[in-house]
Amino acid sequence: MKIERNPTRPVRIGSVTIGNGHPIAVQSMTATKTQDIEATVELVNLLSDAGADVVRIAVDSKKDAAALMEIRKQTTANLSVDLQENYRLAEVVAPHVDKLRYNPGHLYHHERDKPWQSKVEYLVAVARDQDCAIRVGVNCGSVDPAKKDKYAPDDSIGPMLESALEHCSWLDELKFERFCVSLKDSDPQHVIEVNRQFAERRNDVPLHLGVTEAGIPPEGVIKTRIAFEQLISRGIGDTLRVSLTVPNQRKPEEIQAGREILADIEAGRVRSVVDYGLSTLNIISCPSCSRVENEAFVELAQQVKEMTQYAKDHDVTIAVMGCRVNGPGETDDADLGLWCGPNFVNLKKGPEELGAYSYDDILPRLKLELDRLIGAGS
Ligand code: SF4
Repeated sequence: MKIERNPTRPVRIGSVTIGNGHPIAVQSMTATKTQDIEATVELVNLLSDAGADVVRIAVDSKKDAAALMEIRKQTTANLSVDLQENYRLAEVVAPHVDKLRYNPGHLYHHERDKPWQSKVEYLVAVARDQDCAIRVGVNCGSVDPAKKDKYAPDDSIGPMLESALEHCSWLDELKFERFCVSLKDSDPQHVIEVNRQFAERRNDVPLHLGVTEAGIPPEGVIKTRIAFEQLISRGIGDTLRVSLTVPNQRKPEEIQAGREILADIEAGRVRSVVDYGLSTLNIISCPSCSRVENEAFVELAQQVKEMTQYAKDHDVTIAVMGCRVNGPGETDDADLGLWCGPNFVNLKKGPEELGAYSYDDILPRLKLELDRLIGAGS
């Protein structure tokens, strides 16, 4: 699948550059107590060995900051620091990291009389001095209170979007370009919507994608995958994190999941119907999982790909899904959908059901429908 990426500008984070068509970087975060230097270094290196491009560490006190200096000495990983509420720690930690992440909503907690603009100006000065990138990390659970008051209580997207755009404008005024933005929510549909809207207005700013509190695998991975499929397929996203609730030793699963999702999107192995924005044939098939009801599904997906090549120049989406759990719903948005049962395959045209066919009969039946759709022979 040739995905046209948004024309974001390059942002360097240590030895990795995101944006401007660079490969989408995969990140993770430590969950150890930062002051437990040994455990944190061990986890940073574990994540780095698993292929993490950047590892984030939370720092909320002077003691955490002192620990970070020691951690830096013991790893070569690209490090990002999560400043949380104590933004003033930036000058202490910046010499030891490659990126500073601040949350606009957290800038209100300390020095309440000081405008947020001055605080960002300070962070930019520190980042410039210490060769750091910045991430403006907007989160649905801790959005700027001044923005929240302007929108209906059930509108989580409006305040997040306004806050992110406002910070971008201020960074523009400060002539600081080395930053990216994240807009995270626990609902994948909100993540899709808010990132789409942001990318429409600021397609020059690299986006860090993520679903917060995604949960434990496999559900946590599935939730994240749904959001990433819809965004990355449309060229949105320059770096990502799959946030999973797993014990520290299993944290590398976040990296593995991120890489798998990226490879699957590129290969058209998706769980939701994805419009890659192409005007040509779009065959998508789920990546398969333990729910697959008949192994023949994998071969069928391949056969569908081969059989439908004659329609490659037509704007048609065909979805092939491996089970009855997600198949019936997930095929609704495809022009033609197949979902596989134990010994039959259900054929759909959009949400309309056309019937169930044996694994041997399904291909000719699909061809008939495809011919009708593209007007072949008429
Ligand atoms: S459609 Fe079913 S088999 Fe395929 S990935 Fe989703 S849950 Fe698994």
